[in-house]
Amino acid sequence: SKEKNRKPNWVRVKLPTGKKYTQLRGLVDKYKLHTICTSGSCPNMGECWGEGTATFMILGNICTRSCGFCGVKTGRPEAIDWEEPEKVARSIKIMGIKHAVLTSVDRDDLKDMGSIIWAETVLAVRRMNPQTTLETLIPDFQGVEKHIDRIIKVSPEVVSHNMETVKRLTRAVRIQARYERSLQVLKYLKKSGTNRTKSGIMLGLGEREDEVIKTLEDLRLSDVDVVTLGQYLQPSKNHLPVEAFITPKQFKIYETIGKEMGFRHVESGALVRSSYKAKKHIL
Ligand code: SF4
Ligand code: SF4
Repeated sequence: SKEKNRKPNWVRVKLPTGKKYTQLRGLVDKYKLHTICTSGSCPNMGECWGEGTATFMILGNICTRSCGFCGVKTGRPEAIDWEEPEKVARSIKIMGIKHAVLTSVDRDDLKDMGSIIWAETVLAVRRMNPQTTLETLIPDFQGVEKHIDRIIKVSPEVVSHNMETVKRLTRAVRIQARYERSLQVLKYLKKSGTNRTKSGIMLGLGEREDEVIKTLEDLRLSDVDVVTLGQYLQPSKNHLPVEAFITPKQFKIYETIGKEMGFRHVESGALVRSSYKAKKHIL
């Protein structure tokens, strides 16, 4: 019903403010830099940019997958831009980013699934910005270890991979993904010596509380260090509907449960995105 879909006041977008935000906004416009923060009009720009954190997407704007919640275009992706690693590194330099989150579309069309550009980007960012710390929010690489190993080898401070939803809804939410495979990727990352591993789920897609708790348990069993929980919002009418707006109280309950389970950090709240407060997740 209409009533169900009306946004409660706690998910209304905050307008980004602050001196640092205004300064970065100017640079982004002037140099035509591309960040996920601006293209997704993220509600947290004031906070994230204020502390020197931003998210960059690599490997193009077209994805080979078609997750039901995601606003990225699906189709035949663009050719690889071998200068992309340097371009991203330069954007980070121009913006003076202290902690960068890198993410990508899924490139199931490529033999290496994009893992070479991934590693090259981490190296280029490190070369040009030796003080900047990194989180890589990676695809599942279909669980192929030699691709995941390329990421592990360049050792980003945090490596994340999002479950996005509970097991029962995985098919509806990310048709080409597998719940167990994503858990395995996270487990493999930790087993291979990744400093911090992290995952995120969106709420409001029709999941039950016990299913959320089970997902948190599964993440802990996979040795995941950090978990984020946020409200799902529909990017357009063609995407999965919002089944529920989760109350601040319920987010708090999940936070408490997650902390009791032993996660190092739990970010839980309506406007939490997987890169929200990302800088502190290194610690
Ligand atoms: Fe950017 Fe992520 Fe922060 Fe949003 S939450 S402003 S996308 S870094
Ligand atoms: Fe969006 Fe990632 Fe799914 Fe592609 S794989 S559709 S970018 S969520």
